[in-house]
Amino acid sequence: MLLQPVINGTGVLLHTNLGRAPMAHTHTENFANLEFDLTTGGRGSRQRAVGELMAQACGAEAAIVVNNGAAAVLLVLGALAAGRGVAVSRGELVEIGGGFRIPDVMNQSGARLVEVGTTNRTRVADFANAIDGTGSGPAAENQDNDVALVLQVHQSNYEIVGFTEAPTTAELASLAPPLVADIGSGLLDAACPWLDGDPPGWLKDEPAARQTLEAGADLIIFSGDKLLGGPQAGIIAGDAEMVARCARHPLARAVRPGGLVLAALQNLALTYLDRRGTDIAFWRMASYTVDELRRRAEAIVATTNGVAPVELSATPGGGTLPGVEIPSFGLSIAGDHTNALRQQAPPIIARVVDNTTLIDLRTVDPADDAAVAEACGQLAGEQ
Ligand SMILES: *Cc1c(COP(=O)(O)O)cnc(C)c1O
Repeated sequence: MLLQPVINGTGVLLHTNLGRAPMAHTHTENFANLEFDLTTGGRGSRQRAVGELMAQACGAEAAIVVNNGAAAVLLVLGALAAGRGVAVSRGELVEIGGGFRIPDVMNQSGARLVEVGTTNRTRVADFANAIDGTGSGPAAENQDNDVALVLQVHQSNYEIVGFTEAPTTAELASLAPPLVADIGSGLLDAACPWLDGDPPGWLKDEPAARQTLEAGADLIIFSGDKLLGGPQAGIIAGDAEMVARCARHPLARAVRPGGLVLAALQNLALTYLDRRGTDIAFWRMASYTVDELRRRAEAIVATTNGVAPVELSATPGGGTLPGVEIPSFGLSIAGDHTNALRQQAPPIIARVVDNTTLIDLRTVDPADDAAVAEACGQLAGEQ
């Protein structure tokens, strides 16, 4: 099967198997000033324009873009901490999926993991102890007391509940080594100024780029294709000197993105800066009211046999916001029709619960409602 557009009826907004955030990409055959400075006529940097815009969008001094979040973590550790210690809470030694494990990436980068605290409870005093080598515990593993960075990693795809404690970004920023925060999903600003209304309530516990920098993180890392709503990319933003050291490291060349991704991210950054949130497909999906979705479902049901409107719960997906449910609405069809729906053009990806096929309309572009109605009509005809 060729790579092709599909209709996402799963209700998972950032479906990893469906490419996370939905993306437009049209491009004519043309040269671009990718590494050419139009002012001087000399060599330019592919990072210049998009870096400045992304930095502006999240309130950072500087930013660069690499191929994905994993590459960004690897580059930051390699450039800023190779041969030295990096202090991480034992509660944040995460596996993101696809084999991306913080301790393994640390090894690959040449930095040395300094584990701090316990799985469920870690205090800022534990970090201070690990860094200056006083007392017992983690400092024993860090015999030369050489901690180049403190790394805070967003738990992203899991939660530790119960008897828990974790230092805040501001507390970690008060420690001597620079603080790098891998915030994961790229929510640019907790206030979502690009939306007309209030930020969706289900985002309330998600760390945001601007607020993490304001709380004192020296550098932040996030993905382009999670809550940012763009192409696969990793963004490193923050202190200009630290960003420049990352950009100079030999690994930067190995993980640099191509012109298509940079152009898409540049457009996305401009869209955010213009506060045109409804021009970003992810934020449209995130913002539909349940009433709007219900009306779309009822319109499809009115023209189609064998289909019923149904209240559903969508999820953010993409390894973000575990346990979060977003009230939604969609269609239900008795029996398992997922196979037939996948044979449609474009393929429709649905899910099955209790032998009932469910199509969540929150993740379906309204422009695709007609295709969904037609496919459902065919199923009814075959029954
Ligand atoms: C998703 C995620 C990554 C990996 O980012 P990719 O863009 O998928 O490579 C790294 N760290 C955290 C905290 C994440 O949530």
